[in-house]
Amino acid sequence: MDNYQHSLNQHQPKSEAWIFSLAIGIIGLAGLAIVSRYNFLLFHGFAELFSISVAWAVFFLVWNTRHVTDADSLVFIGIAYFFIGLVDLLHTLAYKGMGVFSSHWGANLPTQLWILARYMESVSLILFPTLFQKKSRPALMFACWAGATGLLLSTIFYWQVFPDCYIEGVGLTRFKIISEYLICILLSMAFVFLYLRKDMIDAVVFKLLAVSILMTICAELAFTFYVSVYGFSNLLGHFFKIISFYLIYLALVNSGLTRPYQTLFRSLKDSEKKYQNAYAQMEQNVRKRTREIEAAAYEFESLFNSSQVGMMVLKGGRVFAKGNQRLADILGYATPEELEGISMQALHLTEDKFKEFGEQHYNRLHQGEVLQVEYELRRKDGSAVWCSLSGKALDKYQPGDLDKGVLWIIDDISNRKQAEQELKDTLSKLERSNDELAQFAYVASHDLQEPLRAIVGFLQLLESRYAGQLDEKGQQYILRSVNAGHRMQVLIQDLLTLSRIDTQGRPFESSNLNDIVKEVLNQFDRQVQQKRATIHVERLPNLMVDSKQIHVLFQNLLSNALKYNEHSAPIVSIGCKSLDNDYRFSVTDNGIGIDPKFFERIFIVFQRLHGRKEYSGTGVGLTLCKKIVERHGGTIWIDSKKGKGSTVFFTLPKKG
Ligand code: ADP
Repeated sequence: MDNYQHSLNQHQPKSEAWIFSLAIGIIGLAGLAIVSRYNFLLFHGFAELFSISVAWAVFFLVWNTRHVTDADSLVFIGIAYFFIGLVDLLHTLAYKGMGVFSSHWGANLPTQLWILARYMESVSLILFPTLFQKKSRPALMFACWAGATGLLLSTIFYWQVFPDCYIEGVGLTRFKIISEYLICILLSMAFVFLYLRKDMIDAVVFKLLAVSILMTICAELAFTFYVSVYGFSNLLGHFFKIISFYLIYLALVNSGLTRPYQTLFRSLKDSEKKYQNAYAQMEQNVRKRTREIEAAAYEFESLFNSSQVGMMVLKGGRVFAKGNQRLADILGYATPEELEGISMQALHLTEDKFKEFGEQHYNRLHQGEVLQVEYELRRKDGSAVWCSLSGKALDKYQPGDLDKGVLWIIDDISNRKQAEQELKDTLSKLERSNDELAQFAYVASHDLQEPLRAIVGFLQLLESRYAGQLDEKGQQYILRSVNAGHRMQVLIQDLLTLSRIDTQGRPFESSNLNDIVKEVLNQFDRQVQQKRATIHVERLPNLMVDSKQIHVLFQNLLSNALKYNEHSAPIVSIGCKSLDNDYRFSVTDNGIGIDPKFFERIFIVFQRLHGRKEYSGTGVGLTLCKKIVERHGGTIWIDSKKGKGSTVFFTLPKKG
């Protein structure tokens, strides 16, 4: 880059060269002024030929370098000047006294050609800045220019429709004068456009082109005051034209040849700068990303080392590469380094288990899944430790490639496993003792029934045969014994039913609960009538249940609702509400109600809130209900207020 800049500086025109060029220019112009005094035609020829050669030099330069420049505005202006030069050449040849064209054209032809060339020039200079940094096809551009020039020349030579500019004996036409002013305006516009887009071209080239345009404007103004073909303003106009073309020459030929990089490759430099900026940005991004990755790696490393769960990384299949202290502790090693390089086989209890583990689980790792198992690992001393293992292949892009490493997170779950085992043992013990208890209750109540029946039977016999031989007290004793015997029979019957709920329940079958409740209501017909009670029943669903037990359930609840009710018009409502997974049933009464502190107690067997004399019963009913509901996978509870009635709720799962 520096060398390149250096070579550019070497080609900078030195100030002596400028003075030399200026001197040559002044001498040339002075020479031309002198020539004009003697032979205006010669002066005109020289002046025009100079501008024509500059125009064509501009063209040849940009045409020959069109493949290496991406500045199409230069190619455009080069082509434009080629055709402007061509029209200017015709103008020179048509000039009065040259004798090239037939004399009938007069001074009108050169003036028309002049005006045409100036229009072409001013329009080209307006378009020039708009094409900065645009791309197009030079050959097409040339063809367009050639076509346009051909057409324009035809309007003068062939169709002869181009407005007259000079009429012999009258002088310049209105069209010619207005055109000169118009051309001045167009050139001023060109100047403004150039100024607005000056940042897109080299500063020196801009200055030269700007002054050139100003000179052209001056030339035009001079020609507006054109009185005769050989007049002073004509001389001045041509001087300005020479200077303006010379400046174009300096701008494009001189700058283009000696400082080619600034003019032609300015855009290249710009893009180079853009590239450098982008590169710097990219470098900065990479550095930032590297820092982020380093920070993440550091974070991971500290997390890895300080983690309260064991972690290890396996490489090349199943070989230990890295682990943390917690892992070493779990496996009974002093440090994680002690494990480095050992095969995973050492961590399995037997070789068979090692193989089996690989066969069962490794294909999931190969598929990129997170593997999660509970497994017994072998500690250093050979003892077993229950662990939870979570494994994941480390290669995010090629999960199947386990060579890149597998990360295992290992937690010691031996305490939990032990607790689980103890719970399991306790549960099965409990189940066994429960079974035994139920069996005992069943056998006991069953076997008690027989002697009880005998006792009650003999007591009744005693009463009927020997009642007359006993005094009143004796008769009372016998009567109370018989009653107690009966109560005991009911109690034993209830106990037997209770013990049969689990042991002798029937399989669940689809049952219509409306039918079950109807049967129950039939049983209570008489009682309902006696108590003048009203019973409402909502529509109930079909459910998979043990219908006999559900019958017992409703029977007990309805019995309580009527029994614990002193209302003159007892009302009992049986309702059902559909919840997400269950139906919630309710049996509501307007009876005596219960103090909330007894809500739990009443579901315990033999627990009653009233004496036998107040309300009959054994205190088994609600316990029975609870057992039935729980066997069906539901729950039961009561809501009540003393004196305000009660509602017993219970749920039954929709899926039996
Ligand atoms: P029992 O009715 O044989 O006494 P239960 O187990 O059916 O036994 O009821 C336990 C106790 O709960 C009853 O003694 C009674 O005090 C109370 N109870 C049950 N249902 C109702 C009710 N609907 N209204 C008021 N109290 C009730």
